[in-house]
Amino acid sequence: MLSILFAASEVFPFAKTGGLADVAYSLPRALGERHEVTVVMPLYRMVDQIRYRIEKRDGMTIVMGGTSYNISMYGCHFEGIEYLFVGTPLFGEREYLYGPPERGYEDNALRFGLFSYAITHLAAMLRSDIVHLNDWQTALAALLISREKTVCAKTVYTIHNLAYQGIFEASFLKSLGIEQRYFTQEGIEFYGKINLMKSGIGYADAVTTVSPTYAKEILTPVFGCGLDGFLKVHANKLTGIINGIDTSHFSPSTDLALYRPYKTPQGKKFNKQRYLSSVNLQSEDKPLFIFIGRFTWQKGVDMLIETLLMMAGDACNIAILGEGEAHYRTDIESQAERCDNVHCFFGYDEALAHRMYAAADFLLMPSVFEPCGLNQLIAMHYGTIPVVHSVGGLADTVSAYDSCDTARGCGVVFDSASSHEFMQAFEAALDLYARPKTCLQIAAHDMQVDVSWHNSAKRYENLYRTLSEEQVECT
Ligand code: ADP
Repeated sequence: MLSILFAASEVFPFAKTGGLADVAYSLPRALGERHEVTVVMPLYRMVDQIRYRIEKRDGMTIVMGGTSYNISMYGCHFEGIEYLFVGTPLFGEREYLYGPPERGYEDNALRFGLFSYAITHLAAMLRSDIVHLNDWQTALAALLISREKTVCAKTVYTIHNLAYQGIFEASFLKSLGIEQRYFTQEGIEFYGKINLMKSGIGYADAVTTVSPTYAKEILTPVFGCGLDGFLKVHANKLTGIINGIDTSHFSPSTDLALYRPYKTPQGKKFNKQRYLSSVNLQSEDKPLFIFIGRFTWQKGVDMLIETLLMMAGDACNIAILGEGEAHYRTDIESQAERCDNVHCFFGYDEALAHRMYAAADFLLMPSVFEPCGLNQLIAMHYGTIPVVHSVGGLADTVSAYDSCDTARGCGVVFDSASSHEFMQAFEAALDLYARPKTCLQIAAHDMQVDVSWHNSAKRYENLYRTLSEEQVECT
């Protein structure tokens, strides 16, 4: 049994902006069946301390860049897992996790630098065998642990999205307590600035990303976000492990958010009827397409906007749930106003998302790039056929329905990120809908595909075991 400290900047159900929170909830639960897992995250203002019975624990003092910070620690035991929360006004007195839409807080280097120091302290205190770090917000801990001879833990660093690297002015080096010797191309320097993602890639004992295809893509200039060269240097410790979902949380047969739980695709009908009437959409005989996600270029929102009026001209209903960049919202809103078969909800609503997955016939996911993607996994598990751009994790999890392979789900797949191809895929989905028997077969297949953590948690365990068997130099 290994002692694993799993660190992430967001964890469902305490705080969530995207897929990282889902992974930080579900992977530790899968690992917790066989290992001692502690999850650590920041104590943000929106974390509901009463609901989750979060209690005060012994605090700690952290010296970072010559300044002393008093850290209050909190904890709770939730659904079999031990959670720790790092409390500081830098987290507790802010409205957002990372900053208002479209920009991060200016002191994010300090906020998450401090979080990384706290992770390092905890790794020493808990005598962790493995510290699993996620994304740029925890990446500095890989460097801190590598220079801290009293911490014996091995580090695994997972890249959930290479597009967000945590780049800050070099002037933060001092306040982060990082010596000049690390400010090199081999270290964390990046075009004269600090790049925290580089700390994770450069100093962790192993680096993973969230799908095998994305692991290959990020070694190329097109997907490498300026770090492809650096990643190539460290390619020998890079692997791609596909994400899973927690199939007890995302379970159409027990999901309390649904109008009526179901076990087969036929059971979706009632959920579709009720959902359509709840948002004033007519004609339940027409296919219902949904889009759920962050409004960013990555998610293919430009393609969605370019094609929305054309799609809405066909016999279908379209429902959109999301939030993000304001200009996208304005564009979507102005188009939706012109169509009585398009419904939009701007904001974040977990229960509504569940009801939409249950109600829909098709999920639209035209991502330009997609490290793994969870939406398509959730959709398939709810018997909703994905329409995807075959890239990154989407390519690893969805195969074209006319050459369906059993290891993956089946959906409508298009090869290049263009509005033209997206529109063709949408039309192929309409044709498919006109063949209800085939549609039911595909949906039934998708509901059976194993999208759980079963296999991927084992791959992480194998990695942890290999690392923990290596000799560690520590005092
Ligand atoms: P991301 O790149 O945003 O992390 P993923 O596909 O990995 O994308 O995960 C997205 C997760 O967030 C899924 O659980 C999805 O259902 C959920 N989600 C995204 N946007 C919203 C929203 N506006 N309301 C509710 N859930 C959302």
